Amino acid sequence: MRRHPWIFESAIAKGGGDSGETVRVESHEGQFLAWAAYSPSSRIRARVWSFDEAQRIDAPFFIAACARSIIARARFDIQSDGVRLVHGESDGLPGLIVDRYGDTLVAQFTSAGTERWKNVIADALLRETGLSKLYERSDASVRALEGLAPATGWLRGGEARLGEAPPPLELSIQEHHWRLTLNIAEGHKTGFYLDQRDSRQRFADYARRLGFQRVLNCFCYTGGFSVAALAGMRAAEAAGGRAGGQVISIDSSAPALERARAHVSLNGFDVNRASFLDADVNASLRQFLKEGQRFDAIVLDPPKFAPTAAHADRAARAYKDINRLALQLLSPGGVLFTFSCSGGISADLFHKIVASAGADAGVDGYILERLGGAPDHPMTLEFPEGEYLKGLVVMRKG
Ligand code: SAH
Repeated sequence: MRRHPWIFESAIAKGGGDSGETVRVESHEGQFLAWAAYSPSSRIRARVWSFDEAQRIDAPFFIAACARSIIARARFDIQSDGVRLVHGESDGLPGLIVDRYGDTLVAQFTSAGTERWKNVIADALLRETGLSKLYERSDASVRALEGLAPATGWLRGGEARLGEAPPPLELSIQEHHWRLTLNIAEGHKTGFYLDQRDSRQRFADYARRLGFQRVLNCFCYTGGFSVAALAGMRAAEAAGGRAGGQVISIDSSAPALERARAHVSLNGFDVNRASFLDADVNASLRQFLKEGQRFDAIVLDPPKFAPTAAHADRAARAYKDINRLALQLLSPGGVLFTFSCSGGISADLFHKIVASAGADAGVDGYILERLGGAPDHPMTLEFPEGEYLKGLVVMRKG
């Protein structure tokens, strides 16, 4: 039998419960199927905690689940002190996201079940990590689908002791060979895109090996890929390569760009080699094309164009558009790192979209690699929906 953690409204004949209440799920014949958290207003009407009839859903259950998830991270290859400790369904905790930035935890409770058990989960997380600070960022829009209002602020460890400053919201992490900062109260998601950690390292590897001179980082957020490119370019120069390469970064968020700019000097790179555009990517790509510009490397890491499969058509057109423009802007031998973080677009469909962008651009390329989320954002055998982030590395034929 295939075990899947979601029970849709349409699959339920009778029964119910309060928001977040643990319910016993049975087959038509009355056979036990699972213990699940009931969510009266969501289309995903119940999310499974356990398929084991003997399991009690109580504090020890959450302590054990958090412990398993955290121990798994110690076995994964994670080159950072910014780590996703709990990745929802993939870790057996539907609706719970927990990121660790140094000594601070940031959690998102996005389901009725995790909301109900919030205090127990908070204590379990501190106990299993040995840390004392936990900030809540339950402001994701999906909470509304569960009938939950946004909630943000310190859940644990936020009290300023007499004569001491409150804990900082401004943090920094060491990822691979670079340092990056974030604000856990104001940044996107829990503050940072940890899922792209290893793709940033891959980008640095290509920059070093190929000695990029002109790099374009689209949807740069706080400039992670820009810093990675500069790190790779510096290594190439140190090995005798050409000096003076440039990185252009584009985003529509002014605070993100400001932070991206700060990351350049924080990591010891020459600020004159990096420029930042507060602009719409699509319009900028068209403008660059008109100007006849060319790039050795382009990153396309757009926001989720298709939150669900229902939006896939329109999203596919948007992905195709930017990929067509990017492929046209690549120099022969240039490299495109292109991504989709839309759950509604499969890896296969994304591949087809990029292929048809190439056909429209009249550009062929070698698909050098397929990329995915970092290992602390796992997909599992039982939950294929866990695959949301996919990427391709395409080298334009010369
Ligand atoms: N690559 C980044 C994460 C990108 S997240 C990293 O490694 O950290 C997507 C980014 O796209 C967000 O920062 C958002 O502000 C930006 N964005 C969304 N729509 C945009 C648009 N039309 N033009 C430019 N930037 C946009």
